[in-house]
Amino acid sequence: MTAFTHITSAANAQVKDLKSLLLKKHREESELFLVEGAQHIADAQKHGWETAVLTATPEGLATPEGRQLAETCKKTGGRIFTTTREILGRITDRDNAQDTVAALRQKIFPLDGIGDAPVLSLALEDIRDPGNLGTILRTAAAVGVENVLLVGQTCDPFSPEAVRATTGAFARIRVIRTDAAGFAAWRKGWKGRIIGTHLQATHDYRTADYTLPALLLMGSEQAGLSGTLAALCDARVKIPMPGGTESLNLAVATGVMLYELSRARI
Ligand code: SAM
Repeated sequence: MTAFTHITSAANAQVKDLKSLLLKKHREESELFLVEGAQHIADAQKHGWETAVLTATPEGLATPEGRQLAETCKKTGGRIFTTTREILGRITDRDNAQDTVAALRQKIFPLDGIGDAPVLSLALEDIRDPGNLGTILRTAAAVGVENVLLVGQTCDPFSPEAVRATTGAFARIRVIRTDAAGFAAWRKGWKGRIIGTHLQATHDYRTADYTLPALLLMGSEQAGLSGTLAALCDARVKIPMPGGTESLNLAVATGVMLYELSRARI
């Protein structure tokens, strides 16, 4: 087995580079992001995500899974080093660090890649909470949604909090970023139906036409769906709340909607 450099100092430049990916500024500059855990890294590699840096405890890299991760990382010219669990904790800012961590290359897909195939897509306007975003990506992947559009001022899908909340499902999603104007322009040429969710809607979500291709459009946690995007919808629906509460959590509402839109297929 190849011997990798073993780093034990938190002051080492490679360790500092990886740790810097906890900050949005450095993720944007480097176009890398952190993924924790051998299984999630392996799944991402399988889905074509490139490993720029791989680090693990010597025991972690000695397992068959660890060796396979290293092989795949080397094929695309990625760097590999071993380190201690304590350093892995520093890199990820975790008390109980996983024994394998990677920096993967970010991928953002173009809006025109959605096409007119009969598939379900999801758009999120101005989503701010990375935990909500990760939970939504995980649910979207579970029902087989491939395209998730982040419209407007959204949180970073590559933040550690968002990535962790996906529990590895980020690897199966094509994340697309646009603004309201870009979304409106794309909508003009797209043949599918847009279903918006709105607290003022009178249409019950269980009775809408969900013929594919369709795109589910969800509003922001704070302000809900903007007038600009609501006007682009073919239908606006609401999930009843007989208990009398004001609204559902965004991730919960998205989950309910995604399963309703997918009901005929699963
Ligand atoms: N104050 C915001 C408003 O007035 O719209 C609340 C937004 S809610 C927390 C966040 C998003 O979740 C909404 O924009 C909508 O997309 C979705 N949502 C929450 N409850 C819903 C419901 N009962 N029916 C349909 N969508 C809902």
